[in-house]
Order: sequence, then structure tokens, then C-alpha cells
Amino acid sequence: MAWDFKTDAEYQELLDWVEDFVRDEVEPLDLVWPGQEFVPLNQARRKAIDPLKDQVRSKGLWATHLGPELGGQGYGQLKLALLNEILGRSMWAPIVFGCQAPDTGNAEIIAHYGTDDQKSRYLQPLLDGELFSSYSMTEPQAGADPTRFQTRAHREGSDWVINGWKFFSSNAKTASFLIVMVVTNPDVSPYQGMSMFLVPTDTPGVKIERNVGLYGEPENEGSHALIHYDNVRVPAEALLGGEGQAFAIAQTRLGGGRIHHAMRTIGMARQALDMMCERALSRETSGSRLSDKQFVQGFISDSYAQLMQFRLFVLYTAWEIDEFNDYKKVRKDISAVKATMPTVLHDIAWRAMQVHGALGVSNEMPLFKMIHGAAAMGLVDGPTEVHKTTVARQVLRDYDTAEGMWPSQWLPAKRDAARSKLAEFLELEVGNQ
Ligand SMILES: Cc1cc2nc3c(=O)[nH]c(=O)nc-3n(C[C@H](O)[C@H](O)[C@H](O)COP(=O)(O)OP(=O)(O)OC[C@H]3O[C@@H](n4cnc5c(N)ncnc54)[C@H](O)[C@@H]3O)c2cc1C
Repeated sequence: MAWDFKTDAEYQELLDWVEDFVRDEVEPLDLVWPGQEFVPLNQARRKAIDPLKDQVRSKGLWATHLGPELGGQGYGQLKLALLNEILGRSMWAPIVFGCQAPDTGNAEIIAHYGTDDQKSRYLQPLLDGELFSSYSMTEPQAGADPTRFQTRAHREGSDWVINGWKFFSSNAKTASFLIVMVVTNPDVSPYQGMSMFLVPTDTPGVKIERNVGLYGEPENEGSHALIHYDNVRVPAEALLGGEGQAFAIAQTRLGGGRIHHAMRTIGMARQALDMMCERALSRETSGSRLSDKQFVQGFISDSYAQLMQFRLFVLYTAWEIDEFNDYKKVRKDISAVKATMPTVLHDIAWRAMQVHGALGVSNEMPLFKMIHGAAAMGLVDGPTEVHKTTVARQVLRDYDTAEGMWPSQWLPAKRDAARSKLAEFLELEVGNQ
């Protein structure tokens, strides 16, 4: 019997350390330097943050998203999930632990597909936490359907020249390089005709036209760039993986990215439940505490059950990734987790917000931000609807059409079959009556 829901004592000790460290040392960074996570460190921030990173390194918890075979010091996705659910509470924590999206996914594909030169130029500094990267795939006219991408690269001698537009390239404004998905052969199916390039952000022709913000952020000070690639010339060595391999690479990247978001979402949803429970116990109205009202008890019970279901599903999926070492084999569950994630975070944060009354919707509590985050989670790495169709297609693969006119579980036929199987006993039964 191998089912086991316990964490090794040794790793649990580390997680306990992380819990205290994030609360005492990292969460204060969220309050004094909000929104600065992806800005290269100035002197003051470096002084505060480098010693924290050193403490993480000394515990062996730095950049644990990649296993040793890919140049990292990871312990696999299950352990990463247990770590990430703590880090998910804080915007700065992934930076302090060297495992922030989108750099994690970008590091993963360079580790898988990069040449030695690309690894030393891009992967090592990424793993050292010395630079940021951006993934530039979505276009203004197409996101969920990459077969509609139009950004093109054509050869000029041994160089490639890239032209087109990309939208919502997160952190491009502070990234040192971009990973760009472009059409390199329009005459074949997009699944064979697109390639990925590693493009330093300061390459002539890379023009950030706007930094789109999320709701509530000031105009043009956001982190999601609209980029015009205007005759961007890169050498042949900028190609990541083989020509035409972009879809395979994107799947590798997004598989890891999606489950990492889910791990961090557990932390956020748990924080919302914690806030809901504390408020329910602390606030009295109409003759009793909120925690004594059945509506509020329903909120707490539903939230607890949703969180537990989601958490176990994420941990199980992380375990499957470790077990099979092949995202394709776990695609159904990764998509199911991804599709569930926005609803779980939204529902729990919404109930917590309601229990806090007016304070809950104010900018003095983090609850509305979580709900907005849940909406973004329904789009980042592909919309919920697309993931649901993936799940359904994969689930349906295990089923066949019914033979004949009636479903296989049609009771009259099943009853007839059962009667003929047990005919000799039925005869006896009739005889005895
Ligand atoms: C916070 C944030 C960060 C992001 N960061 C990046 C990044 O770093 N790099 C990057 O390249 N992109 C990034 N994106 C973009 C993200 O990948 C896209 O938003 C996503 O793929 C959807 O594309 P779209 O926005 O063009 O929506 P569309 O493709 O236009 O889809 C719009 C809606 O149509 C519906 N829909 C679409 N397809 C289907 C279908 N097949 N079946 C049923 N319904 C469907 C869904 O409701 C969907 O939400 C980011 C997005 C957000 C919100």
C-alpha cells in the first residue's frame, strides 16, 4: 500500500522554516516594495534582499523548480508544490526563492532545448536570479489559438529577421531577453511552421509600444508589454530547439507553468480562508458572532472543502509529473487543475470579502486583489474554456460508443442478461415460493 499523505519529517522541518521565514522576513517586502518584484535591484533593495536569498540558498531551497538533470537543485514537483503553497501568499517570496513565473517556465525550456552556449548565456544567470526574462507568444489578434499567430521570421543569409506584434509579454520592460514564438514557414501547418527565438531585449527593432496594466494600475505603467518586432535581426544561434519546434516547446513550458500557478494559488486561497475564519470569530452582529450564523458557517464549510479538494488534486498532479516525467501523460490533470484554479480562488476570496463587509471591498484588505487575480488566472497560460475542452477530449478517449440503439447501462437489457446468468437460481426461487 503506497498511498501516503505525510510529508517526510526532514522536509517538513524545512517547510516549517519557510512558513516562519516568509511571514517574518518576506511578507514585509510586499508592503514596502509592492509591484517592484521584477525591477532589477537598486542598492537599498539589494541590501535587504540578497541576505534573504542567501538564507534560502543555505537551506538548499533556492531555484528548486528544475531538477539536477536540468541544472537546478530541485526535488521534484511534489516537494515544489508543498513549498509553493507557502510562497503563494507573498508576491516577493518566489523572487526570494528564485522560482518566479515566468522565469521558471523560461528556464525550463532553455534547460530542455537550449545549446550549451544558450544555457551559459541565459539559463545560468536566470537560475542565479541575476536577470529576468519574458515569454512573448500572445498577439493582439490571437491568443488562445496560436495557429492564428502572424509574427514572422525570414532568413537573410544566416540571420533571421523577425517582424510582427506581440501582446501581454509580461515583464518585457525589465527583462534581459525575450523568448518569441514566430512563424518561420507559412507553407506548412502552424504545428510544424513555428519556431522559438531567444532575443536580447536591447536588440535593435524591439520596440515596447505600451506597458499594459491590469485593473487599478496606472496607465502605461503596467507589466504586460505590447511589443513591435520591427526588422529584429538575430543570428541563427538565437533559435531555441529546432526550426518548427515551437509547439512542442510551448507545451513543455506551459505544462510546468500551469501547475506552478496552481501551487501558489493554494497559498492565496488558504490565506483568504484564514481571513474569513478570523473575521467570523471576531465580529458580532444581531446578537451573535458571525461564526454562529449558518450562512457564514456554510461559507466556511464550502471554502474548506473546495480548498482541500483543489489542494489534493494539485499535489496528486505534481506527484504524477514526478512519476511519469512527461507532461503529455499528465495533460488531462494539468488542464483540469488549471480550469479549476480560478473558481476556487474566486469563490473563497469572494466569501471572505463578503464576511468582511465594507472593509472587505476596500483597498485596506487584499481580498479584491485576489478576486482580480482569479480572473487573470482564468486567462494566463490559456483560457479556462480551452482547458476544459482539453480535459473533455482526454476523458472521452477512455470511452467507446454504445453498441446498438440503447446505452450500455440500459436497465431492461442488463436485467435480461442478469436473469439469464442467474437463471438456474431464479428457477429454484420460483419453485420454493
Ligand atoms: C496577467 C496575464 C499575464 C499574461 N502573460 C503573458 C505572457 O507573459 N506572455 C504571453 O505570450 N501571453 C501572456 N498572457 C496572455 C494569455 O496567454 C492570453 O490572454 C490567453 O492565451 C488568451 O488569449 P486572448 O487574451 O487573446 O483571448 P482570446 O484568444 O481572444 O479568447 C477570449 C475568450 O474567448 C473564449 N475562447 C477562446 N478560445 C476558445 C475555445 N477554443 N473554446 C471556447 N472558448 C474559447 C474564452 O472565453 C476566452 O477567454 C497573459 C495574460 C494575462 C491575463
